[in-house]
Amino acid sequence: MRTSQFLLATAKETPADAEIVSHRLMLRAGMIRKLAAGVYSFLPLGMRVVHKIANIVREEMDRIGGLEILMPMVQPAELWQESGRWEDMGPELARFRDRHERDFCLGPTHEEVVTDIIRNECHSYRQLPVVVYQIQTKFRDERRPRFGIMRAREFIMKDAYSFHVDQASLEKTYRDMHQAYEAILRRLSLEYRAVAADSGSIGGSTSHEFHVPADSGEDEIVFSTGSDYAANIELATGGVPDAVDDAEPLDCEAVDTGAAATIEEVCTLLEVEPRRLVKILIVHAADEKGTPGDDLVALLLRGDQTLNETLARQIEGVGSPLRFADDETIRERLDCAPGCLGPVNSLGIRTIADPSVTGMKNFICGAHRAGHHLVNANWERDCRYDEIAHVRTVREGDISPDSKGTLTVRRGIEVGHIFQLGTKYSEALGASVLNEQGKSTVMHMGCYGIGVTRFAAAVIEQYHDERGIVWPDSVAPFHLIIVEIDAHKSEQVREQAEALYRQAQAAGIEVLLDDRDRKTSPGVKFAESELIGIPHRLVVSPRALADGGVEYTSRRSGEKSIVAADAAIAMIADLLTAS
Ligand code: ATP
Ligand code: MG
Repeated sequence: MRTSQFLLATAKETPADAEIVSHRLMLRAGMIRKLAAGVYSFLPLGMRVVHKIANIVREEMDRIGGLEILMPMVQPAELWQESGRWEDMGPELARFRDRHERDFCLGPTHEEVVTDIIRNECHSYRQLPVVVYQIQTKFRDERRPRFGIMRAREFIMKDAYSFHVDQASLEKTYRDMHQAYEAILRRLSLEYRAVAADSGSIGGSTSHEFHVPADSGEDEIVFSTGSDYAANIELATGGVPDAVDDAEPLDCEAVDTGAAATIEEVCTLLEVEPRRLVKILIVHAADEKGTPGDDLVALLLRGDQTLNETLARQIEGVGSPLRFADDETIRERLDCAPGCLGPVNSLGIRTIADPSVTGMKNFICGAHRAGHHLVNANWERDCRYDEIAHVRTVREGDISPDSKGTLTVRRGIEVGHIFQLGTKYSEALGASVLNEQGKSTVMHMGCYGIGVTRFAAAVIEQYHDERGIVWPDSVAPFHLIIVEIDAHKSEQVREQAEALYRQAQAAGIEVLLDDRDRKTSPGVKFAESELIGIPHRLVVSPRALADGGVEYTSRRSGEKSIVAADAAIAMIADLLTAS
């Protein structure tokens, strides 16, 4: 490809709304352009990278027996009604009506459609297991699209689905997928972490996320310094280092705290650290459908800790999604102002304590009396709980749940997510096969997503410097850029650059020849080659030719050398095979 024929849409300015480096660089390098909030076009340079990523993903899916299909973006409401998600999904699901007044949605994911295909095509265990996948555009009306294509509304996903006669077969494919994801991440040269994850609204039990560590990541991932424990913070549990206080119980008294209601206000008034307080949060218990009902549940945490909503809503009997009781409900049902509530013996509702509070002595909590708090409260004598469950968000330095090592917390970009769905969709849609004994069995199912376009952004988050993108060879839009300098003055330069260009093409190297005329200065050409991050650069200039060859620069190390023109392409080919 020649730059004179390429839509090289580089820009000097960084748009104000581009908060993270990958977003800025993708815009500046001319990879993407915004059409609407969270909706982007891919320009030629960006598209080449997307193809590279998609091809790596495709090869690894094929390697484990995946079969590529393509499902429609437009999906009929009936299927989503069958699974129950037409009601369950919020405004993220973009719905519309066709000219015949039929309801449709734009696919945010394809469990329903794929289950419909397989229930119609597979009737015997002999046809299983089957793994299908597609690389296709999704639409999710995200509440807060941001960071360019990192959290877009329209984006490209690889979504794979597997169907099995039993759980054992599902588990085998799940392991294969796990390995395929690791292979993809290695081929993309990304540092990554696989962590245990919450299945969220997709459903199912076991699930893992693949994260690329980056400060700009929207998730927090937790791992142990002493074992292979790793989890999304939403799911992470652990011990506090100072969980047990062995002080002697002191006399408890109710002190007047007036209008002080928040942890901060009470601590300032009583001149204590928040960690001396037991705080109480009131949420709604589950009704018969599991959603928040009328009954209330109290959750207890140490004053300096924060609630983990994912863990809390997973507790049997707690309503999901988590709903906090409003002040009026608390006043009415618990006969107390919210600021003075405490886990006193007379509270009268199911009370769940985080393990970090159960070892506390002589603590402070609401006295369950207007304007008062208890000082030197102790369990049993003054306060109580019914059960112990992890409901706090772990922190750096907490003890790993397997007691080996301490927890480290880092930010991560979720690039992939795999789930064992079990029979959630196959049961709802009646997808069964005859098993070996000739009995009808509901299929077990797995689903496996990768953010193909998010990957492009994640690679840039890990591979950039102050001058621009530094692509790893595997996803670089071009492997080599040949820059000709003063070709309008030197026929030798033009001929040499053309010869190198032809040799590179013949050697199967993806090459971009910067043949723009003298209106584009050498400085601009160099800066742009660095901005767009092409790993290898050869400069053909009168000066380099006088020095005996062409100038090679590695984008990664910045090292320069003069190489003989007739050895240059073989050298690049070697560098590419070595990487
Ligand atoms: P997130 O927690 O980031 O919203 P998710 O859990 O909703 O992601 P999945 O349903 O597991 O995502 O989708 C599979 C993959 O698709 C994700 O791992 C991610 O790489 C990608 N993805 C999801 N939402 C977006 C988005 N809005 N923009 C770009 N990629 C996305
Ligand atoms: Mg996810």
